[in-house]
Amino acid sequence: MMETRPDPASPELVMRAAPDLSVVVPLYDEYDNVQPLLSALRRALDPVPWTYELVLVDDGSTDGTRQLLTDAARRDPRIRVVLLSRNFGQTAAMAAGFDVCRGRRVVTMDGDLQNDPSDIPRLVDALEDGFDVVCGWRRDRQDRAFSRKLPSRIANRLISMFTGVRIHDTGCTLKAYRSWVVRKLHLYSDMHRFIPALAAGVGGRVREMPVKHHARRYGTSKYGIGRIFRVLTDLLVVRLLVRFASHPVRYFGLISFPLFFVSFGFILLGLLKFGDGKGVRFLVSWDISYITCGVLTLVTALNLFLLGLLCELSVHVSGFFQHAGRELVDTGDHS
Ligand code: UDP
Ligand code: MG
Repeated sequence: MMETRPDPASPELVMRAAPDLSVVVPLYDEYDNVQPLLSALRRALDPVPWTYELVLVDDGSTDGTRQLLTDAARRDPRIRVVLLSRNFGQTAAMAAGFDVCRGRRVVTMDGDLQNDPSDIPRLVDALEDGFDVVCGWRRDRQDRAFSRKLPSRIANRLISMFTGVRIHDTGCTLKAYRSWVVRKLHLYSDMHRFIPALAAGVGGRVREMPVKHHARRYGTSKYGIGRIFRVLTDLLVVRLLVRFASHPVRYFGLISFPLFFVSFGFILLGLLKFGDGKGVRFLVSWDISYITCGVLTLVTALNLFLLGLLCELSVHVSGFFQHAGRELVDTGDHS
């Protein structure tokens, strides 16, 4: 008798094999948004021919979101839920989702339905055109003009200038990635918005696409104007990571080696005596001011060099820049 093969789109099979797509959604106190979000995601993804999983990360909600998510995961094997023990912030929640997601393509979006799941298929299709990151661009953004849109415009300009990645809207969570981009990232603070810059730093191809944006219907935004300062400091860190990451000690060396020479110059000046008609004489006087300058410069140079070594060590421990930028292409049949 012929064995009946299970339907490849059956939820049980999706559970076992790595799905084509993982959708990672951070949620913090989004009780009223959970059901509409799940329905909208199913409406958007059920018609497309890919297998998918929804990785919903509860970021320490206290309004019943956790229970709703847990129930949803019990009912639908395509839903996987990560419960964080307290509120860690959106970036940490997304990082927790990246840790467990298994899809070959990964999409991130907000859990408050400001992003529209119906944009997901277009973004993922664009990945197939050879891009590693496709960023949503909220061209018609539905947030307050003065406290949200204006600071975001300024921040986006700065970010694009500093990182060299020319996109309009780094803050839009709706983005699609090839999975290698998000696998090895070590994200903290508000850094999820800089994933495109980090990816571009290892040769990833980035593009943007206009997406829909809706005003929040339920619940409240978790952010105020204070976010702009976090974003700016993160920007400096990311700039540093992208520029120096592959060999930090070289860059620190570039500054510290000239300083070594300057310090020796100062010390020598402090130990020489000239201008008394007897030529240049060595070790006859100790000019304490030159020697102090020399020693201070020497200590600075040494510190910089050691700092470079420490950075080198941390880059090796984090592993992102060793392992990122590789994608395995095969038949995808691992079951
Ligand atoms: N979020 C989170 N942890 C937080 C803050 C926000 O998981 O500490 C989630 C939130 O539930 C939403 C997404 O991140 O799904 C975006 O947050 P929000 O809508 O407050 O940001 P805004 O759209 O106002 O920029
Ligand atoms: Mg929102």
